[in-house]
Amino acid sequence: MIIANHINKQYIIENYLLLFTVYFNKNLEILETINNFNVICFFATISGHMISTKNILSKAIHFHTLNKNEILYILKEKNTKMLFYMANKIRKEYVGDEVHLRALIEFSNYCIRNCLYCGLRKDNYRLVRYRLEPWKIIELAQKAKNCNYKTVVLQSGEDPYYTTKKMKDIISAIKSLDIVVTLSIGEKTFNEYEAYRNSGADRYLLRIETTNSILYNKLNPEMNLKNRMKCIEYIKKLGYEVGSGIMVGLPGQTLESIAKDILYLKSIPVDMAGIGPFIYHPNTPISLKTNSHGTNNAFELSLKVMAILRLLMPWINIPATTAMETLNTQGRLIALQSGANVVMPNATETIYRKYYEIYPGKICLKDSTQYCRFCIENKIKSINRYVSNGKGFCKKTK
Ligand code: SAM
Ligand code: SF4
Repeated sequence: MIIANHINKQYIIENYLLLFTVYFNKNLEILETINNFNVICFFATISGHMISTKNILSKAIHFHTLNKNEILYILKEKNTKMLFYMANKIRKEYVGDEVHLRALIEFSNYCIRNCLYCGLRKDNYRLVRYRLEPWKIIELAQKAKNCNYKTVVLQSGEDPYYTTKKMKDIISAIKSLDIVVTLSIGEKTFNEYEAYRNSGADRYLLRIETTNSILYNKLNPEMNLKNRMKCIEYIKKLGYEVGSGIMVGLPGQTLESIAKDILYLKSIPVDMAGIGPFIYHPNTPISLKTNSHGTNNAFELSLKVMAILRLLMPWINIPATTAMETLNTQGRLIALQSGANVVMPNATETIYRKYYEIYPGKICLKDSTQYCRFCIENKIKSINRYVSNGKGFCKKTK
């Protein structure tokens, strides 16, 4: 336990206000869950005498809120056992032991953007490009349904080949199969998002990547953070389930900026938070040396971010991202035991998988959709969890 002399008045006032708000609103449900020990710990924290992981986690568990400094404290904490244990416990309490599967269809690797970190960037001339015709995408969705998936995620680079009309046709055809449709096709206009939504698209996944505008604008030439945020606002306004998230371990990214990212995701609030470690791709302008955390650290740090998000937004969906398994052979299972409750197995036709090379070392490149479905279910069972039979909408909004 650390005696913190640096806790300022504002911090103390902020926490007292939180406690009084709970009392005045007579939120007995919350109050009843706080046992005496936690109250002592909590008062110790807010009175500014003690700041410790235990006290901060106690506040997160009971109030689902933390300020930037508290998040930063947890991100810096080396002993992660308690954080992951609590995130797993809260996950079980709020979203249960079921794991929602989303079949990922990577339908085009063409992209007009040049994100410095991504292997699909326009200027990566070494990448063999492919795009699937609408009928093929619909066929893959049907195959996913045959494998008992309830949701497909249609993902691509930003590829203008897919006009609004083409996307509308694809979405309506897949919806007629009674499958939930998630789109992950980048930045669009309000009218385009609206047209997809009117055709039946249910969810949209657009990671903010980082909320540090200097870093964002540097890593995403000809794009800007303001527009990215605007797109997320549009998606929210149109009634999609909002998926967003960040990459962890980006060159130049600080822990403080990650703490702010977490608060941003909570402020939306997102229905799904996808947190993935940044993985260096040699055919991009990013130099390996500039990776601030190193990939080993990115794995652990991504887990911490997922766990904190689970404590702050207990009801949301959090995928155990594929990139986690690139860095650790048990990556997705570890994530599922640290707050995550969703997996997005690959349902792209096997021959195309290796060309959707966002980063090197992607898993399941030689497997079929049927095999991936079978394999992930067994893995999930091995940790005493089970595949959900439902459509997996966010518990708070549906
Ligand atoms: N083009 C769409 C977009 O950018 O939103 C969707 C496809 S994009 C490939 C999906 C995600 O891949 C991005 O949001 C980004 O977080 C992730 N990504 C890109 N390059 C990466 C890398 N080198 N390591 C890990 N994740 C990466
Ligand atoms: Fe294109 Fe998305 Fe990759 Fe950026 S992250 S280059 S928008 S595919």
